[in-house]
Amino acid sequence: MKGEKNKLKKTDNISMESYLIHGIFRTSKWDYDHNVVPPLSASVTYRVESVERGLSGFKHFINEHSRRVRKRPTYVYDRLDEPTRSMLEERLAIVESGETAFCFATGMAAISAALMVSLKPGDTALLHKTMYGCTFSLSSNWLPRFGIKSVFVDMTDLNELKNSLTPDVKVIYFETPANPNMELIDIDKVVSIVDKENAKRKRTHRIRTIVDNTFATPRCQRPLEFGVTMVVDSLTKNIGGFGTDMGGAVITSKKYEEELMMFRKDFGGVLGSRSAWHILVYGLSTLIDRGNKQQNSSQKVAEYLEQHPKIGKVAYPGLKSFPYFAIAQKQMRDFDGNFAPGNMIYFTLKNDTEESSNKLLGYIAKKAYSITLAVSLGHIRTLIEKPGSLSHAAVPEEVKRSARIDPSGIRLSIGLENPDDIIADFENALKAI
Ligand SMILES: *Cc1c(COP(=O)(O)O)cnc(C)c1O
Repeated sequence: MKGEKNKLKKTDNISMESYLIHGIFRTSKWDYDHNVVPPLSASVTYRVESVERGLSGFKHFINEHSRRVRKRPTYVYDRLDEPTRSMLEERLAIVESGETAFCFATGMAAISAALMVSLKPGDTALLHKTMYGCTFSLSSNWLPRFGIKSVFVDMTDLNELKNSLTPDVKVIYFETPANPNMELIDIDKVVSIVDKENAKRKRTHRIRTIVDNTFATPRCQRPLEFGVTMVVDSLTKNIGGFGTDMGGAVITSKKYEEELMMFRKDFGGVLGSRSAWHILVYGLSTLIDRGNKQQNSSQKVAEYLEQHPKIGKVAYPGLKSFPYFAIAQKQMRDFDGNFAPGNMIYFTLKNDTEESSNKLLGYIAKKAYSITLAVSLGHIRTLIEKPGSLSHAAVPEEVKRSARIDPSGIRLSIGLENPDDIIADFENALKAI
């Protein structure tokens, strides 16, 4: 078993559940034969055997065009590369079906990196208009300062996407499911549109497709398998899972390794080893089991909400009434090929007013035991929030309207509690309004 594990390759017939627990404990970059739990290294700097050896370690990062010698890396300084983070990156690359992964301090740091290495002044980023509030702020407030244009389009309408492909478009960016309203983008169809366009372009002018996979996680969906260029994940959410640490990752192919490594070295938003260790040891190793339970509970809660007379619409990919049910069936699949609609629900009240949604959430904040009023998502605790007032507060009203974010819509992230307790909390809260 030990010998097998040391030689484990992506193609070996080991299930993802087992791989995420055991990893590979001896590689050219780390060796923990004796530790059952991967060790946490906490050293900012590394002793080098000689000036020459230290220099060769640095050279991997000095300029974009140097070939990184992967055989025996020299650790020099934490911000460049570090073994605990390396172990997490190796697992993230495999679980997301990529070749390489880079971890950052937060999801936003990872998103910034993916966008900034892919764009330069004069370029345009096309973004699906429904997205996380800070990504909207990054693309509308910050990218223009660097001479990059952000254009927000409705990618649920593929014709609109096709018609927006001007020659300066270099990045297509979307979340699926989109935060907060659960809209799905057909990854396969977007990739074929981009491939067709890229076939007409020079190598240097090709479009990169970047997908934020935070809501789904690789347990439900692996966009790289559909041919997108890069995937970004907020590790703060479902992957970290316990709500103790922030983190983010970019997962892609080796082709983009050098630019991402250099960007991270120089912009510096690297993931600390202690957070990497938590995410590796607790988060990633339990991702599949947490996700399966949360998904079963989500189906139950979504079905309960859907039949409740005080509830308006319920958007959950596992419901037959979900407008993107067919796309969900196609692209949201777990490692065994089973339908995997995830643990995120978006709903409105039938009496869709600010007042009634505030009343519901106020009641839950004070009286509910299993549901917590808080932003963030993908934790072992069920979290509820109102995007219009909280996570998406930075998005201007008219943009929210066009992005189909209802002013009083409610986002729900199902945790590990008994689903009957979550439903009982809703039953009481809905009675009270
Ligand atoms: C939370 C979130 C992010 C940002 O992640 P942080 O770790 O908080 O920086 C990005 N995208 C989506 C979809 C998110 O929900």
